[in-house]
Amino acid sequence: MYYRPRTLHEAVHTLAIHGGQILSGGTDFFPALGERPVSTPVVDISALAEMRGISIESDHVRIGGLTTWSEVIRTPLPPCFDALKSAAREVGSVQIQNRGTVAGNLCNASPAADGVPPLLALDAEVELVSAGGMRRLPLAEFIVGNRKTARRPDEMLVSVIVPRELEHARSAFLKLGARRYLVISIAMVAAAVKADGAGRVAAARIAVGSCSVTARRLLELEADLVGARSSAGLGALASPEHLQRLSPIDDVRATAAYRHDAALTLVRRALEACVEKR
Ligand SMILES: Cc1cc2nc3c(=O)[nH]c(=O)nc-3n(C[C@H](O)[C@H](O)[C@H](O)COP(=O)(O)OP(=O)(O)OC[C@H]3O[C@@H](n4cnc5c(N)ncnc54)[C@H](O)[C@@H]3O)c2cc1C
Repeated sequence: MYYRPRTLHEAVHTLAIHGGQILSGGTDFFPALGERPVSTPVVDISALAEMRGISIESDHVRIGGLTTWSEVIRTPLPPCFDALKSAAREVGSVQIQNRGTVAGNLCNASPAADGVPPLLALDAEVELVSAGGMRRLPLAEFIVGNRKTARRPDEMLVSVIVPRELEHARSAFLKLGARRYLVISIAMVAAAVKADGAGRVAAARIAVGSCSVTARRLLELEADLVGARSSAGLGALASPEHLQRLSPIDDVRATAAYRHDAALTLVRRALEACVEKR
């Protein structure tokens, strides 16, 4: 059966009664089917206008789950979102960015999902809604493994909530692939650095993707950067030991050793990009 609810209320009740798979932009959903026909009910949520768009509230920014990557790129946002915007430009091609949604990227939970490191670095939370109510989870707790999330089958990811705490931090996203465009990453890094009035790092957040089953924050490095001069040379403070939380694998795209090396270089470059004079 195919359902296309018009309201969030209708959507969560459809899911509660019939179950089935959620369909948003379909850019992960359809490729995952391969040659197989759809064998479960489908709840197409693409008509839920209330889940689209980005709004700036008093203490957070709310990104509706159906917001596309093109909308992320187009929406004027504070500098801490520059990394997310760069990641959005890296998701497939313009056609994919026009269809693919932020929630679809997070719920698909690929270790190589471009949206995850920038949102982890923004301390994002996800809002999950079911017929029974709403709950919020930190993104770091929502994605629990390779294509595994903490979402219950009757829940929809309705919004991503980003606290405005680091709003004026500078941020950067770097992705390394075997070619420049339309590529699954070998490693990727998102960084955000906030400087205090004296030009020192007041807060830093760094997340690495494609180098573990789930993207990871480098908490030890973040702590070590606080108090350092927020200027050229900051990247040199990142050392191989700071990447110990990562567990890259060998696969067709790269060896684990290469990924490790590449991740360190990307971390250093991303930090430099955050303190570069503009
Ligand atoms: C050619 C091509 C290139 C690509 N390149 C990249 C790339 O470079 N980087 C990258 O990160 N991704 C890439 N992708 C993957 C994809 O485009 C993104 O992950 C996109 O953001 C998925 O969003 P969607 O709306 O299309 O999700 P869908 O395909 O509709 O759904 C994906 C999964 O999430 C579930 N889901 C969707 N929305 C919700 C919701 N609101 N609540 C709960 N569950 C939900 C669905 O049930 C499904 O399991 C590419 C895809 C293609 C086809």
